[in-house]
Amino acid sequence: MADAPLLTLDPGNPDPMGIARAAALLRRGGLVAFPTETVYGLGANALDEQAVAAIYTAKGRPAWNPVIAHVPDVAAARALTRAWPAAADTLASVFWPGPLTLVLPKAPHVPDVATAGLDAVAVRIPAHPVALALLRAAGVPIAAPSANRFTQVSPTTAQHVQASLGDRVGLILDGGPSAVGIESTVVDLTGPEAVILRPGMIAAADLEVALRGTGVAVRTATATVSHHAPTAAPQRSPGMADRHYAPRADVWLFDPAQQPEIDTALAARGQAAGLVIALLSTTTLSAPDATIRRMPDDPAAYARALYAALHAADAAGASLIVIERPPADDRWAGLRDRLARAAR
Ligand code: AMP
Ligand code: MG
Repeated sequence: MADAPLLTLDPGNPDPMGIARAAALLRRGGLVAFPTETVYGLGANALDEQAVAAIYTAKGRPAWNPVIAHVPDVAAARALTRAWPAAADTLASVFWPGPLTLVLPKAPHVPDVATAGLDAVAVRIPAHPVALALLRAAGVPIAAPSANRFTQVSPTTAQHVQASLGDRVGLILDGGPSAVGIESTVVDLTGPEAVILRPGMIAAADLEVALRGTGVAVRTATATVSHHAPTAAPQRSPGMADRHYAPRADVWLFDPAQQPEIDTALAARGQAAGLVIALLSTTTLSAPDATIRRMPDDPAAYARALYAALHAADAAGASLIVIERPPADDRWAGLRDRLARAAR
């Protein structure tokens, strides 16, 4: 397939003709990459089994990893579920549209391919105006994982999508860089507690504040599954695949206190090892040939910059990316999670 056309849309005022073209393509069963505030999504009609199957083929994504259904409003979210607990209303009213995905018992008409055979469906209202305009025009829920090949770094620009999946989608909508920059927080509401299946920029403390007084506790799931492991049972929490969000280069993570050890290891590796890129917030390294990239010390700004930095390192042909681990603070949980998976 030739490279997909790239259509640039002004987020402040997305051209209705462009949106209509993308919506028509989705309704015909095609694949459209589109901007969201988290990362760019690879979209297909969530109710069209074959269209959703095409997402898996394009990404090389294993069938056990379910996709998130994107919807324009709460009514459309509820329509995909068979139970809608009070906590879903509470979280939806506080965080939607926004980077929060809710996992709920699935309605029978949601195809199994979209949920990887699970009895639960993941739903989200994205905040990007282009995504919302597309969802309204399409009139169907849009299943969309990140628009990258499986295990690779998620795209936060249309150019990232083009480089990774340009020959495998029908159309790419360019709505500028993603404002949040990492994938949504995924919260399972199928049980009595709100269980964080995948941390993101909406932190556990934010969820606790929203759910205060409702009797619904917030807990973070700890199970990690291997991306190698073909398991018979569908994965409960597939975003937890251990290697994911990973650049091609080796990745070393270090705590600021380990800086001397990293300096020694870099010196031992030597210049012949190729281009070394360091993403640092507070430390400096004494490795003279490492290319240093200063990362913000604020989590929101860091999240906005992270994937672009990893893509740039790959594009520059880095053999090693050395990354200072952010603080062990709840606000950094989503970023620490992505960095740990990138390093595996
Ligand atoms: P991606 O689109 O690649 O960022 O991944 C979507 C993620 O959403 C999955 O990897 C899971 O973490 C989560 N997810 C989607 N559907 C479900 C579901 N039915 N149950 C639990 N988690 C889900
Ligand atoms: Mg992904």
